This record gives sequence, C-alpha cells and structure tokens, in this order.
Amino acid sequence: MRRLTMEDNLRALALLFALLCACSFLVPAGGQRRCAVQTEAEPLQAVRTSEKKVALTFDADTDAQQIASILGTLRRCHVRATFFVTGVWVQKYPEEVKKIVQQGNEIASHGDTHRDMAEMTPQQQREDLLVCSGKIKAACGIEPHWFRPPYRKWNDSLLRTAHSLGLRVADCSVQTDEWRNVSPQVICRQAVSGVTPGGILLLRCVGLNVAAALPRILQTLQNQGWQIDTLTQLTSN
Ligand SMILES: [Zn+2]
Repeated sequence: MRRLTMEDNLRALALLFALLCACSFLVPAGGQRRCAVQTEAEPLQAVRTSEKKVALTFDADTDAQQIASILGTLRRCHVRATFFVTGVWVQKYPEEVKKIVQQGNEIASHGDTHRDMAEMTPQQQREDLLVCSGKIKAACGIEPHWFRPPYRKWNDSLLRTAHSLGLRVADCSVQTDEWRNVSPQVICRQAVSGVTPGGILLLRCVGLNVAAALPRILQTLQNQGWQIDTLTQLTSN
C-alpha cells in the first residue's frame, strides 16, 4: 500500500474544503427560501391593542343598491370605512367609487373578477390584481394599498404576488350572516358582539339588510366607546 504523500493530503484537504463550502452555501440558502415563505405576512385579522378601536370594512362585488344609504349613515355618524371593491364593480359603478372616496373613505382592492384566486396561476393572480388596481385608479385617481381576497381564500403565491405589487392583504376578525339575508337585528347583534380591540369588522354589500343594520351597529358601538375608522387608520396608530 502506497503511503500518503503531502500532495495526497493537500488534495484531500482541498476536497474537504470544497465540500464544506458547498454545504455552507446550500444550507442557509435553502433555509432562507423556506423562511421567506413562512414569514410572508398572513392576511391581517386584527392589530394588537388594548384600546377600543375597530376598522369598519365593506366588500362590494355585486350591486350598488345599498351604497347611498351606507354612505349617508357613515356621514351622519362621522365614521370612515374601507371599501373593498372588485374591478368589475368599479366598471359598473364608477360614480359610487368617486362618492366613497370623496367622503373620506378608503378604497381597496377585492380583485378584478371575484373568482377564487387561490385556484389561479401566479400569472393570473398578478394580472387580476393589476387590472383591479388599474380600474380603481382610473375611476378615482387613487391606487389601492389594501387587498382582501375574494371568499377570504388565499395561498402563499397570492400573498407573495399581492406584496410584490405593494398590496397589504386584509382578512377580518368578525363578520356577519348578511349574505343569508338575515334581519338587520341579527346582523347588528353579530357585529356588535363579535367586535374586539384592534379588530376588523367585515360587512358585505350584498343581500338587503346591511344598510338597514348599519345605523344601529354604529350607534351601539359608539355608545360603548368604540372608535371606528378605516383599516389604514387602525394600523397606523
Ligand atoms: Zn367578496
């Protein structure tokens, strides 16, 4: 058996060094990739606070029947809210979008077509978000900063795509059964009993009774000392 020469030793050392380099390159890189996915901010459901503050948010993706009444109530109660609108809705109701914004409310994206975006390819997700933001900008001159996924369904790709386009993703902490056409009393009870400090209240502009329930929801919450404002106000304080 041949004795190991100095050259063999150096060769072994060089090989070991190369292997170590390769490992140290691979391990953190893989770890970072996993981390990037894991730390992608989840949709916001509430902010951490002990103060009696809540964000009021509406989703609009069907008709605009209740918008005038909702805006009237908000004005009378001196409350501003965040309206998540679809691109299709914006195209149908550009005047309502302008009124929402003129009154000091916040306009936000609910996607263009209100399809389940978790089922889309990343390219389709990107296209849908860009088209919706473009329609909102064209209608009222404002680019949305918040996005709520249709049906509150998302995946990692949708979150990454939204963030890459400068959109923060919002969910909610309390919602009601307004879409089942329950009575204004039931909507009010569900909304008021579900509100928590830093929470996000979701009301959908569907069915018949959201506008009818809103005066009582706002009066009750204000009488209980709740501050009600837009999502941006809730998150910036
Ligand atoms: Zn919706």
